Amino acid sequence: MFTKLLIANRGEIACRVIRACRELGVRAVAVYSEADRAALHVARADEAYCIGPAPPLESYLNIDKLIETAKQAGCEAVHPGYGFLAENAAFADACAEADLVFVGPSGDTLRLAGDKLGARRTMAAAGISIIPGMSAAAGDAEDVPAEAEKLGYPVIVKAAGGGGGKGMRIVRDEGELAECLEAARREALGAFGDDTVYLEKYLERPRHVEFQILADGHGNVVHLFERECSIQRRHQKIVEESPSPALDAKLRKKMGEAAIAVARAVGYTNAGTIEFLLDEDKNFYFLEVNARVQVEHPVTEIVTGVDIVKTQLALAAGEKLPFAQKDLSQRGHAVECRIYAEDPAADFLPSAGKILFLREPRGPGVRLDGGIYAGYDVPVHYDPILAKLITWGSSREEARRRMAEALREYVIIGIGTTIPFLLDVIGHPAYVAGETNTGFIADYFDGWREEVPEGLMEKALAAAAVAEMAAGPAKVHVDADGAAAPTPWQTVGPWEVGRGA
Ligand code: ADP
Repeated sequence: MFTKLLIANRGEIACRVIRACRELGVRAVAVYSEADRAALHVARADEAYCIGPAPPLESYLNIDKLIETAKQAGCEAVHPGYGFLAENAAFADACAEADLVFVGPSGDTLRLAGDKLGARRTMAAAGISIIPGMSAAAGDAEDVPAEAEKLGYPVIVKAAGGGGGKGMRIVRDEGELAECLEAARREALGAFGDDTVYLEKYLERPRHVEFQILADGHGNVVHLFERECSIQRRHQKIVEESPSPALDAKLRKKMGEAAIAVARAVGYTNAGTIEFLLDEDKNFYFLEVNARVQVEHPVTEIVTGVDIVKTQLALAAGEKLPFAQKDLSQRGHAVECRIYAEDPAADFLPSAGKILFLREPRGPGVRLDGGIYAGYDVPVHYDPILAKLITWGSSREEARRRMAEALREYVIIGIGTTIPFLLDVIGHPAYVAGETNTGFIADYFDGWREEVPEGLMEKALAAAAVAEMAAGPAKVHVDADGAAAPTPWQTVGPWEVGRGA
C-alpha cells in the first residue's frame, strides 16, 4: 500500500477518500483553493497545500500545479474523486509520466470512455446492445433529418464528449431538429471544447440502472450489482437506491454479465460504473461508462459490504481483487439522497453562504457523507453538493422510512437546501411503489413549493431573534496563516427548527 496519497478534489468526496486513507494507514494530502481555506477536507487531512485562486481552472483543474504539489509532498499516488479531473486522460497520463499512480483506469481507457461515439462503436462490436442511433458524428453533409426519420421521433441530440447532462437536446419533430442541433453544438463547444454531436433514439420514461464494477490489473472483473438512479432533474441524479425495484434475479444476472463484458471491452481497471437505460419492456441498452468513483457509490457499499474507495486504493497499488463474483451478494436495501445547496422553491438556484446552524441525523441504518460544518461558508465557485444522506433497511420500505425520518432530523439553517424537496420526493406514492423512471421529477414535481406548517415561520423568526441577542458577538478563530476562519463548533444559538416539528 502507498504511504502517502494526494487527493485532487474537495468537499464530501475528499473527506470520503481521507477516511479510506486513515483506515489503511495512508497519509492523506489535501489540496485547496484560496476559497477553500476553511473547508472541512483541509482540516481533516494530514497535510494540506493551497494550489491557487478560487476559479477551478486556476486550482482544482490545474494539472501542472497538482503534479508539482504531489511530488513536493512526497506522494506516490493521486485520487481524483469525481468531477474536476477524474475522467481526464491528460491528467492520468501526466501522473504516469511523473511516476505517480493515478487511482483510476489508464489514460487510454479514459479516452475511450469519454468519447460517447467511440464507446458506442466499441460496444456494438462487442455485441452489447446500444440505444438505437448514429455511430458517427452528425456532419453537415450527412442527411441528419433522414437519420432522425429512420429512428423515429422523439430523438435526442447528444454531445460526443458530453457529461453532466450538458449538450443534450430532445427533439420531438423535424421542425425542431435544425435548431436543437445548433444549440447542442454550441453548448458542447462551450462546455467540452468539441462540437461533435450525434443522434440517438429518445426512450420515453426509461429507468436508469447502472452496475458498479471492480477490475484489477490481473484480468479479474466483478460487479457489485446495480443502482437505480432514475430520480433525476435535468438528466442529473438526485436520489439513488440499490437494489433496483425493477430487476429480478434473471435480469440482474444478464445485466451484470453485460456490465462485465463492457468493462472487458474497454480494458477497464479499478472501480467504474456501466450505465444502462431500461425500457418498459425490460430491454436494456448500454448508455455509457463512468470511469471514476460515483457520487452514489455508498448505496452499493452498504448493501454489498464492500468499501469501494479502499478497494480502489488496493487495486491501484497492484493488489488482486480479494473476492470473486460468487462471494458477493446484496443484503437489504439502501437509498441515497443528495443534499444540494440549492433553493428548490426558486428553480433550484444555487444558494451559497454561511451555515448558521447544523443538526445532522443519526440512528440505525443512517450514514452521512458530508463536507460541511456549522459556521462553514459555502463558496459559490463549485458543485453545490453539501452532503449525501444514505439509509439502510432490511426492506426498501424500511430504508425509505428511515430516509424520511433522517431528512426530518436534518436541519441546515442559513442557506437553502434540497432537503424539503427530497422529503416530498421519497414520500410520493409512485416512489413508495417503486414506480420510478427518468421522467418522475418532471411529471410530478413541476413548480413544486414547500408546504410550511402554519405559524412555523413566525415562531422561527422569533426564536432566531432571541438566539441572536443571547449569542452576543460572534467568536472568530484565527488559523495558522493568520486568516480568520469559523470554528467548526461555532453556532448562532441553541434553537432548532425541524420540518413538521
Ligand atoms: P451525461 O454523460 O451528460 O451524464 P448520459 O448519456 O449519461 O449523459 O445520460 C444522462 C441521462 O440522460 C440518462 O440517465 C437519461 O435520463 C437521459 N438520457 C440519455 N440518453 C437518453 C436516451 N437516448 N433516451 C432517453 N433518455 C436519455
